[in-house]
Amino acid sequence: MRSNCKGPKCGWVCVRVSAGCRATIYTIEDVIIKYSNEHNH
Ligand SMILES: [Zn+2]
Repeated sequence: MRSNCKGPKCGWVCVRVSAGCRATIYTIEDVIIKYSNEHNH
């Protein structure tokens, strides 16, 4: 997973997002607030 942080809020996307993978995780201060484990690979 690759992180994209803005302050304490981070969005994590699969390394294969460019290949159309939609799996994402959102965290605030290391606590998962939203989780989508929809890998297409
Ligand atoms: Zn994936």
